[in-house]
Amino acid sequence: MLCDIRDALQYMRFGASEEELIELSEVLKAELIVVEILSFSDNVVDFAAKGKQKKRKCTKGYNCGGSCITRKKNCRKALKGEAKNAAEWLRMQLHGKGGTGASGEGKAKKANEAKAKKDNSSKGLMKSGEDFLENSERKAIDDYFEAQKTLDSRKNKINNVREQLYREYGAELVKSGGGETEGVKKTREKLDAKTKELDRLDDDLTSKRKKAEEAMENARQRVIKNRGISEKELNDYVNSLNIDKKVLNDNPKIREQIKEYVAMTGFKSKRMKGLDITSDRAHAEAHKNSGIVNTGRSQTEKAKKETLFHEMSHFYEAEKPEMRKAANEWRDRKAKDYSGGDLKKEKLSDLTGNKNYKDEEVAYRDSYVSPYVGKTYEGNLESGLAALKGKESHPAYNNTVKRLEESSQYTEVVSMGVERFANRESMLDLYEKDKKHFDLILGMLSR
Ligand SMILES: [Zn+2]
Repeated sequence: MLCDIRDALQYMRFGASEEELIELSEVLKAELIVVEILSFSDNVVDFAAKGKQKKRKCTKGYNCGGSCITRKKNCRKALKGEAKNAAEWLRMQLHGKGGTGASGEGKAKKANEAKAKKDNSSKGLMKSGEDFLENSERKAIDDYFEAQKTLDSRKNKINNVREQLYREYGAELVKSGGGETEGVKKTREKLDAKTKELDRLDDDLTSKRKKAEEAMENARQRVIKNRGISEKELNDYVNSLNIDKKVLNDNPKIREQIKEYVAMTGFKSKRMKGLDITSDRAHAEAHKNSGIVNTGRSQTEKAKKETLFHEMSHFYEAEKPEMRKAANEWRDRKAKDYSGGDLKKEKLSDLTGNKNYKDEEVAYRDSYVSPYVGKTYEGNLESGLAALKGKESHPAYNNTVKRLEESSQYTEVVSMGVERFANRESMLDLYEKDKKHFDLILGMLSR
């Protein structure tokens, strides 16, 4: 009997980790009464008590008693008779009906996912983001990019042929078919057929783009579903905010959009108190406890929602230090890769050619989806401290310096990324232009 139960436990452990073994012994302790009926009690108590122990030679846990051919591999010996029944019963205890007890692969996947979930470094988040998309979604996106490549290369080829023919026969003659010599006729027919081919490829691209966007929307909805925040909770949150009438007039859908943001990010800001329009350029006062999102004046419906997601994400980053750290890490690593090692600040007005940026607005250069992603607020600390000179005895001094240090670590990485998750088209666009940024944000959202 001793041998049988231990064999059964071994059977349970195909691919099992040490944590799972401990979990198993916990189950065994809890189920002792049932175990007793099965008359395994002595051995099970013994095993449960020694849950964590393993034999000297075995690296996987408790060994089966047989001599190990290799210390690295799990015992694959199938069980018979009573031991098999015991193993089935144990598996039911651990994993329920149709459980994954016998599938080492399933367990390993779960363990990997759990491990990845804990890794909040920028690389860990990117990995989670990449893994979040399902194969069918990834395929739809790849198919779209493939169709785009095909169309582009055909377009180039056909344009070359067209130009060559125009040169040979004259553009007017080829287009109109006038004069209609045999050579011109053939040429015109050839071009017509090629134009039709382009139209067909264009249609194909449109339908594939639609599917790729659907895949993005699926992923977005899955993020929301996985969080499962109730409608009541979302309503309570939006009701707690002070939304100025000007904002509601400008964007009547804003309450629903705030709810969608919370449903997707799982983030209910403690600092954000209200929304207002005080200037044309949107911004968030995430460093203040009186936190206001200034929604600015965007023109289109799409831009209004994206701006809202952008500004709310400044609070997200401000209140989630681990995500802020990852965003800094990610931005700097990319900029360093781009420059070959140095981090050099450049004026955003120079990087973009837009003179509306103030001189103190600086960024690191990289192939980000927009130069604004590389913006750094580091300089705020120095200028802020200079402004506080002579006020060291003020009771709020220490807290102000602390907040200043925090705000100098703010980035535009999260905001510029999450705004793209306001709709399927912008998600696909970000994926296309900077997949690493997409992965990072999806990784954050899937946390
Ligand atoms: Zn911003």
